[in-house]
Amino acid sequence: MTATPSALPAPDAARVDKLAIANRILYNEGVVDGFGHVSVRHDASAGHFLLARNMAPALVTSADILTFDLDGQAIDAGDRRVYLERFIHAEIYRARSDVVAVVHSHSPNVIPFAVTKTSLRPVYHMSGFLGEGAAHFEIRDVAGNTDLLVRNAALGRALAGALGSGAVVLMRGHGSTVVGTSLEQAVYRAIYAETNARLQTQAIALGDVTYLNAEEAALAAASNDTQLARVWELWSRAVAR
Ligand SMILES: [Zn+2]
Repeated sequence: MTATPSALPAPDAARVDKLAIANRILYNEGVVDGFGHVSVRHDASAGHFLLARNMAPALVTSADILTFDLDGQAIDAGDRRVYLERFIHAEIYRARSDVVAVVHSHSPNVIPFAVTKTSLRPVYHMSGFLGEGAAHFEIRDVAGNTDLLVRNAALGRALAGALGSGAVVLMRGHGSTVVGTSLEQAVYRAIYAETNARLQTQAIALGDVTYLNAEEAALAAASNDTQLARVWELWSRAVAR
């Protein structure tokens, strides 16, 4: 049974603050612009997550963070507007008990890989989390012609299904969604998915590309996961207020 709103403790203040910082980091590092969003699972309830109200990520402060259930319903929004695509987050948290944070963006260098058959694969150690290639979501197969937005639970479920057990799912005609076992890891992956996409495009233009193989990718990803605090400190310093 999920907790009723009145029984749900307030989220940990440090986690709320970190989510606000994550919003600003993702803007500063070129992953989100006026659109895109990042969430983190509630520390006291696996059936809830934290996500900003409907606003540009660069402007998010801790006061803008709302609590949602896995049906995508905000329990404390009042008259504040919520993101249309909150179902991306809700259905991934429902499907993946290991996921603690989710980033959805339209980061530009990733888009070409979402609209072609060219797989987004790791060209260097920093993006080992891409493994043998990012997953792919074709919304047209699920819902026919749409505005491309994941605006209901059924589309969210289909997206979570396409993500499977992976770290990244590309969304044709739209963008991408990245997950992590911490806010730091999800932000790291979103930033390096974008960087890898740019480098891979450059490498393809030069000639045949040698990608990390599956074992190299796994080893590099495990190694990078021990270094997240270092880059988080740098990225958060740059957006400190
Ligand atoms: Zn979107």
